[in-house]
Amino acid sequence: MVKKNHEKSIESAASEYKEFSSGFVEGICYLCGEKIVRFDQNKPCLHWLLRKHKRVKKKHIKQLLDSKEIFQVISYLRWVAKTEGKLSQVNDFEAYEANPKLIYQENIKYEDTEWTFWVKKEDLEGHKDQYSSFPHYHLQITIDGRPFVNFSDFHIALSEWEIFNIYARKGAFPSYKYAFPFGESYLDLFTFLPEEKIVDEMVATDDEKKAQYHLQTFIEADPGTTIKGEDIAKLIEERKKTGVPLAKLVQKLKNVRAKTIVMPENLIEPVSRKKRKR
Ligand SMILES: [Zn+2]
Ligand SMILES: [Zn+2]
Repeated sequence: MVKKNHEKSIESAASEYKEFSSGFVEGICYLCGEKIVRFDQNKPCLHWLLRKHKRVKKKHIKQLLDSKEIFQVISYLRWVAKTEGKLSQVNDFEAYEANPKLIYQENIKYEDTEWTFWVKKEDLEGHKDQYSSFPHYHLQITIDGRPFVNFSDFHIALSEWEIFNIYARKGAFPSYKYAFPFGESYLDLFTFLPEEKIVDEMVATDDEKKAQYHLQTFIEADPGTTIKGEDIAKLIEERKKTGVPLAKLVQKLKNVRAKTIVMPENLIEPVSRKKRKR
């Protein structure tokens, strides 16, 4: 039954994602039906976060965020970032960092806009002053490198349910995970997919900037045997022709053991902590 529900939610996420992406390429927001460049103050919508209209001000962003759950916002922005086709536009590695003071951090980048979500332990406890004494998160938005929203601008309230999901993202509950269908980060892939599967789904590229993964393959001959240089040369030739990564092709070789290490490539840098205010 659980599995069925899971399949069903993946299915509905798939149709929602399809709606999102077919609208997005036409410049239409699938949520409100308006053009993404349009701003109607009476219809708060997640597409405001893209700030395609200059009349979108900080207060509108705050008004919008107060009515949405944090992972609703993140899911939407991940889908937007993914329209650029690169997993490296989402960095949530720090969310899993063994730092007891940092509860959650995620950076998302699309075109020249970057969103950083940030929850520290003291944010969950609430700060001392009356305007931020409740559990909350912080958000920074930069456009073309310039701040549009600063970390210190908003204290956006978090419900118990949202806090539960934040801990679920961090892997606090073995039987309950919070995934982002169609908006997976590297971390999600490493968490949910076995490495062999990642290798299976990859296509090799010689363009460093396009590379999503960096693969290092170590090949070792079985004891008492040798690896022929010509066999390796053949595989390299095949890789060029077919685009199948070497890590996958080496599995064809006999008498060798291959170990592949998968590393994310061109991942966006997390925002420096020094620059942040609380
Ligand atoms: Zn909209
Ligand atoms: Zn705070």
